[in-house]
Amino acid sequence: MALGSLLPELAPGGSGRTPLIERVARWAADRPDDPAYTFVDYSADPAGVKITASWAETHRRARAMAVRLRATAEPGERAALLLPQTLDYMMTMLGAMYARVVAVPLFSPDLPGHADRLLGAYADAEPAVIVTSRDALPHVEKFLADHDVPRPREIVLADEADRARADEWRDEPIGFDDLAYLQYTSGSTRRPAGVEITHGNVTANAMQLWAGWSPDRPAPELVSWLPLFHDMGLISTMALPMVRGDHAIYTDPVSFVMDPMRWLELIAERPARNVYTAGPNFAYEYVASQATPERLADLDLSGLVTCLNGAEPIRTSTLSMFADTFGPAGLRPGAQSPGYGLAEATVFVSAAADDDPPRVVHVDRDALTRGELVPCDADAERSAALVSCGRPVGQLVAIVDPETRREQPDGRVGEIWVHGPNTARGYWRNSERSAETFGGELAEPGDLPSGPWLKTGDYGVVHNGELYVTGRIKDLIIVDGRNHYPQDIEVTVQEAHDAIRPDHVAAFSIQGEDSGELLVVVAERNRRVPLARLDPDEVENAVRAAVTVEHEMSVHDFVLVEPGTVVRTSSGKIARSATRQRYLDGALPTTRRRLEARRGDG
Ligand code: ATP
Ligand code: MG
Repeated sequence: MALGSLLPELAPGGSGRTPLIERVARWAADRPDDPAYTFVDYSADPAGVKITASWAETHRRARAMAVRLRATAEPGERAALLLPQTLDYMMTMLGAMYARVVAVPLFSPDLPGHADRLLGAYADAEPAVIVTSRDALPHVEKFLADHDVPRPREIVLADEADRARADEWRDEPIGFDDLAYLQYTSGSTRRPAGVEITHGNVTANAMQLWAGWSPDRPAPELVSWLPLFHDMGLISTMALPMVRGDHAIYTDPVSFVMDPMRWLELIAERPARNVYTAGPNFAYEYVASQATPERLADLDLSGLVTCLNGAEPIRTSTLSMFADTFGPAGLRPGAQSPGYGLAEATVFVSAAADDDPPRVVHVDRDALTRGELVPCDADAERSAALVSCGRPVGQLVAIVDPETRREQPDGRVGEIWVHGPNTARGYWRNSERSAETFGGELAEPGDLPSGPWLKTGDYGVVHNGELYVTGRIKDLIIVDGRNHYPQDIEVTVQEAHDAIRPDHVAAFSIQGEDSGELLVVVAERNRRVPLARLDPDEVENAVRAAVTVEHEMSVHDFVLVEPGTVVRTSSGKIARSATRQRYLDGALPTTRRRLEARRGDG
């Protein structure tokens, strides 16, 4: 059965029918001195320097930026944000939204490891303006000099915009259908695609997320380190506080990666509040792995209401590791909140945001390969654990057979389709792919709208009224008529031998000689195991045995590769098709070759 319902306040004539961005002016009038956005800067001082903009200041700086942008760009033209994640970044996003100049949230070109994303998104968006900062300007100039990309009409320095000009801004009507920004997808399965997010989409998704995150608690605050150039970071940090004039405290991803405990320490500074935060699965695992007894000793997480875990497959091992590590610090068992979303739906679709611990169902793996959810004992042979992503909020989710376009019964795996005011209208300048993805029509809609439905490309299943995400259609490995999810195989592989680097494994299929698909696994070597002690045959045998036992299929090829060679997105997700391409090109630096070279030297 389809899940969810639409929010009445977002229906025509409802109270949520004014664009979210217009609320900034309201908070500036009603509570001018309350904090709106606080940026914590760890670059100058490892203890972190907090810089806060009140709602009045936010409104003033956003207007000043709107004046500045409109001096050079028309509504509908794009402004690319190529600056570090600071308060200026946020004010630029808001100013662009006031001015109806379409923001393209990116980052400074010196951010390591993200060059392809920047180049692809920048060229695709064809910005009229680049917004950067004085410090990042040389990187922007180098980026433009090094690449054959469209030249902007002007480069604006956000930190030097004249704030005194705010009063020159004259409000203009903002329509729900006006574009607010282009959200580039993560690029897990393809080049990042620009999703057209309208003011109506942002408004709806912020209100949905808000409604999903127990809206009745007083004094809510958001703490985040997530990148503002990805969907989850942008909506939670920028848009959520606008709903009711709350406060967001954020830093940048580099500060988090350098010392992940900063994240939880920022939360712990606010025990009397109700704190919300969000992150992908790997972040929870990473911070738990870095928590030392000294830093745990003073940590008080009792103010943490909800930590949303979304954006990638959620592991039960991570949920328990996080709960075990931070339970003694006051983490409530119900705080962890698995969720599901994607850029095409602005971001947020569903979450298990009640105060209960995450719900996990153990299912028979063989049945799952046939597309059926059959619960079994946790310790049954070949069981797989699925984590509930709760229910959609303010939107509808249906599980659909993509061939017949009919809704699937509960317990049957199908494609996750989403319908709501938060689903975007299309991809930027790609009408063909837009029609394919955003124009889903149900064959027998019954009580549901016949369309348009967003076809997410993800498989999922409804069980006991909740959504379980099983994996991406494109990544599915189909061997002997059975569907295997790569993330499942990857976990088996990384647990098979300690010479394999956790979370740096890619499983995918290649076409066999006859018709069938063959399983290939590429895994990075774990640096912690000295090369001299590493026996590639032993690792390979362990992997083959584990996959045979756990998944009842054979590994056609296993390649142990050097660290850093399994391709990942800027948000840390495994890019399986890109890794597969490198495998097919013979471009992977294998550990066997490295060992042979060493022996040759010695
Ligand atoms: P691209 O579309 O460019 O290949 P992407 O799909 O990773 O990249 P995003 O829109 O940022 O880009 O991520 C959304 C995707 O992340 C979902 O479609 C889904 O595949 C995955 N995802 C999100 N939440 C979950 C979850 N709880 N469990 C499993 N997968 C999830
Ligand atoms: Mg996607």
